[in-house]
Amino acid sequence: MTNRRPLIAGNWKMFKTCPEAVETAGQLVKLLSMTTDIDVMIAPPFTALAQVSDVVRGSCVSLSAQNLFWEAQGAFTGEISPAMLVSAGCKYVIIGHSERRQYFNETDETVNRRIKAAFDNDLIPVMCVGESEKERESKNTFSVLDKQLKMGLEDFSSDDLKRLVIAYEPVWAIGTGKTATSEQAQEVHKFLRSVLEKSFGNILAKSIRILYGGSVKPNNIAELMAMPDVDGALVGGASLDPETFSKIVHFRE
Ligand code: PEP
Repeated sequence: MTNRRPLIAGNWKMFKTCPEAVETAGQLVKLLSMTTDIDVMIAPPFTALAQVSDVVRGSCVSLSAQNLFWEAQGAFTGEISPAMLVSAGCKYVIIGHSERRQYFNETDETVNRRIKAAFDNDLIPVMCVGESEKERESKNTFSVLDKQLKMGLEDFSSDDLKRLVIAYEPVWAIGTGKTATSEQAQEVHKFLRSVLEKSFGNILAKSIRILYGGSVKPNNIAELMAMPDVDGALVGGASLDPETFSKIVHFRE
C-alpha cells in the first residue's frame, strides 16, 4: 500500500482568453466544492494566471503554469521567470510537455534546467516524458523513457526530488483519441518507478506521483486509476470543459 494522494491535472494549452479562463475556473470551483480526497490543478495560459488565481483561492483547485524559463530575470524577451509564476499564484509548473519538445526545441537538458529552477522557487514541477509512435513500434519505449528520465533528473538528489511529479504521456496518445490501455500505462509507470528506485532509492520511488496523460476522458479514467502505479492524470482536451473535467476528478463516483 502507498499513501500517494491522487492528482488530476488539467492542461489548457493555448486555449481560453482571460474572461473565458475566469468563467471556466469559476464553474469548476463550484462543481468541485465538495471535493476533498484528491489534488486538482489547472494550467491556464500565462495571461490568465493571475486572474484565475483569484478565482481558485481557498478551493481545492491549485494553479499551474505550462512552462517557465530558468533565469531569475534579465534580457530574455518573451520568457517568464519562476518568481513571476509564484507571484501570479502558481503552485505547480508543467515541464517538458511533448508539444514543447516537438515544436519549441525542448531537450532533456533544458528540462533539467527548468526543473532545477522550479525547485529553487518552491514550485512543484510536473515533468513530462513519453515515447513517439515510431519509438514504440520499434520497441524503444523503455530506452527512450530511461534516457528522458535520467537526463532530465541528472544531478538531483533524492532529497531534491521529494516534491517531483512525473507525467507519462505517450506522444501517440496526446490529442489523438488513442488512449494507452490501462495495462500499457501500468507497465510503463512500473518501469519508470524502477528507474527512479535504481537512481534515487526505494523510499523516493514509492512516494513520487506518476500521472498518465493521453486522451483521458470520463469513460476511461476509472480503469486507469485502478492500476497500482497510476497516481493521477494529466488531461488536455477534456479539461477545457468544467463538467467533463469534474467528472474525471470524481472518477470514484
Ligand atoms: C496533454 O496535453 O497533456 C494531453 C494529454 O492532451 P489530451 O488529453 O488532449 O490527449
